[in-house]
Amino acid sequence: MFEVVIGLEVHVQLNTKTKLFCSCPTSFNHKQNTNTCPTCLALPGALPVLNKEVVHKSIMLGTAINATVNRTSIFDRKSYFYPDSPSAYQITQLYTPIVENGHLEIDLEDGTKKTIRVNRAHIEADAGKNIHDGDISKVDLNRAGTPLLEIVSEPDLSNGDEVVAYLKKLHSIIRYLDIGDANMQEGSFRVDVNVSIRPKGDKKLYTRVEVKNINSFKFIQKAIEVEVQRQSEAWEDGLYEDEIFQETRLYDQDKNETRSMRGKEEAADYRYFPEPDLLKCVVTDEMMELYSKIPELPDEKRDRFIKEYGMNDYNAGVITSSVEMAHFFETMMQEEGVTAKTATSLLTVELQGRLKGDANLSNSPVDAQKLGFLAKRIDDKTISGKAAKEVLDKLMQENLEVDGVIEALGLKQVTDTGAIEAICDEIIAANPQKVEQYQGGKEKLFGFFVGQVMKASKGSANPQAVNEILKAKLG
Ligand code: ADP
Ligand code: MG
Ligand code: ZN
Repeated sequence: MFEVVIGLEVHVQLNTKTKLFCSCPTSFNHKQNTNTCPTCLALPGALPVLNKEVVHKSIMLGTAINATVNRTSIFDRKSYFYPDSPSAYQITQLYTPIVENGHLEIDLEDGTKKTIRVNRAHIEADAGKNIHDGDISKVDLNRAGTPLLEIVSEPDLSNGDEVVAYLKKLHSIIRYLDIGDANMQEGSFRVDVNVSIRPKGDKKLYTRVEVKNINSFKFIQKAIEVEVQRQSEAWEDGLYEDEIFQETRLYDQDKNETRSMRGKEEAADYRYFPEPDLLKCVVTDEMMELYSKIPELPDEKRDRFIKEYGMNDYNAGVITSSVEMAHFFETMMQEEGVTAKTATSLLTVELQGRLKGDANLSNSPVDAQKLGFLAKRIDDKTISGKAAKEVLDKLMQENLEVDGVIEALGLKQVTDTGAIEAICDEIIAANPQKVEQYQGGKEKLFGFFVGQVMKASKGSANPQAVNEILKAKLG
């Protein structure tokens, strides 16, 4: 009887070398308060200068989500007082953001697609970090002034699954563009979820509640679930007006509930005004042309794989879901004679299944070239798919060459038909009764002969060749 309305605000930390308005490095793991200067410490007289790399990366994102890139955008000052912001204001873009009116497409469970509109993406400066340590609180300003892109969707999402699909798509686009790490746990991809409900069919938007900083897809879904439940119950109990108002709430993982954090400030509380220390951000024709060049995106890559390699939707989707996987696969395919089918199963089943703990595709002991070569050895019938698993096990432990391991483990398939024929003749001669039964119509016995030949060859005979030769010999 209710439908759910959700809009998302995603803060993406851009992976620029230096901060948004100064030349301090953005790298992590430095000693506290060392990546700072008069500008990001907001000392009097220090002036901000816009980092061009931020403009570049924002335009790439805008291009990827089919948005308008504003040729002139403006920075605004948003006042608020927190200890981790030494200026007591944040520089952001309220009235004229750099990117507006985009959209992206998500794939729903039932196979259909849905378009989610993106209202805007604007540039803003991040705050530092408050570190609470027993009775004392400390402030680390290394992060203060690092660049964020806040990407704001329209309220087009209707449930937790759509939210996760949207976030995964956005996440993957950012990784493909390589404009950010987009690591949820480390806070470089932070999601605020705005949730409201309304009677089914009603077009009006009701009061939204913002649930902040939830750091996994699983908890985002849970947070939506409990928040929707809270709002629906209030409605059914006739308490909607009293209990549901525009505010910011925190999701508590342990109690699985949302809790009021603060009433939502009105724009007036922030006393926004155009930032007087900065010029307008102007994007010239040349910048536009240069910065809107972007690499192939996940959806395009998926469609191309389906067309070019005859892959099915599912596999193409799995392979292109992460940029690391897609690049790994493409490197494997560069090996001559490798089929997409072999490369896909070696990569998604065999290698992925063997990467445990901290191991992932970027630090895998078997790199894409080596796995591609192993795929080639399956496809040129040097070894069977089964033998390849043994070879891979060995390669995961030791840095060895594929052919050397095949040789050492004696896994080379016998495709020499003469040798296979000789074994077949032996097996047929040793089992005259079974041959009679088979020829008398007991066709199930064919498997027995194949099994015997494979066993006699110690698994090295090419099964396809064995099948063909036995068929011919047994009639
Ligand atoms: P603010 O900047 O104050 O957070 P915005 O107008 O930028 O407000 O909206 C923030 C987010 O809230 C957007 O993602 C938008 O889609 C979403 N939103 C707005 N109204 C609703 C609503 N009634 N229900 C759910 N989400 C909403
Ligand atoms: Mg907001
Ligand atoms: Zn600085």
